[in-house]
Amino acid sequence: MAETVKTEGRNYTSAQVGSFENLDQYVPYKDGKLRGKLFLKDLLGLTGMEVSLNKLPAGKGVPFYHKHKHNEELYIFVKGTGQFQVDGDVIEVKEGTVIRVSPDGSRTWRNNSTEDLYYIVIQAAANGLTAWTVEDGIVEERKVEWNE
Ligand code: ZN
Repeated sequence: MAETVKTEGRNYTSAQVGSFENLDQYVPYKDGKLRGKLFLKDLLGLTGMEVSLNKLPAGKGVPFYHKHKHNEELYIFVKGTGQFQVDGDVIEVKEGTVIRVSPDGSRTWRNNSTEDLYYIVIQAAANGLTAWTVEDGIVEERKVEWNE
């Protein structure tokens, strides 16, 4: 298993978790049935969202539907192709496809192609955002400097 390199500062946590094609090494649940999913909340100490990095091998599919109690999810497909299903609607997915699913959406997805499918899932409380984008950002009045 590749070593995760983690760095922490007063206001950040960063980690290098390896290349996405090696995500198979991560098995998130004790029953071992699911591979290729790395959750970031505990690794980084996230407080307002859960994020996972995912690899679904060619020909594989999630063998169940699921919903959520409180969280909406954003699926960001970054490589490969497949299909996503929400409440019976089927969406073709590929690099650049982004899908928001409300907590009550019944969802599943599959990789019906011959190449691996890569995606990121972000989970956060539905209606939890109180400020966003430029409304929440604070631009600092100082010059950008780099130590070479
Ligand atoms: Zn979910």
